[in-house]
Amino acid sequence: MSLIDDLVFCLKPRCPLCRKGRLYRPWTVSVVEKCAVCDAPLGQHDIGDGAAVFLIFILCFSIVPLSWVLELMISPPLWAQVLLWTAVGTLAIAVMLPATKAYIVMLEWRHLKKDGAEKAD
Ligand SMILES: [Zn+2]
Repeated sequence: MSLIDDLVFCLKPRCPLCRKGRLYRPWTVSVVEKCAVCDAPLGQHDIGDGAAVFLIFILCFSIVPLSWVLELMISPPLWAQVLLWTAVGTLAIAVMLPATKAYIVMLEWRHLKKDGAEKAD
């Protein structure tokens, strides 16, 4: 479990236990109820909106200052700013949300395993 392994896991989310089964349902970021390979109860995670909140902070503190810098440097028309930052924000969410959620799910499983605790249902 190195940092490289964790980064690869986040970029290609899989079951945090066997690393073979799918973590998400197809075309969503909803975690599957059970791993198709090892039957781990992945649907019992308890991360709520944690990944979305992290992304809100990260993207707000990066996109808003960048839009101000662009406005001060070249002052593009407002419609261009709207199109640009909407596209940048949407693309960033599409790339970062699955990875962030996978990382949080992986950390939850790792610490449950380390503590020797089992999830109660
Ligand atoms: Zn599995």
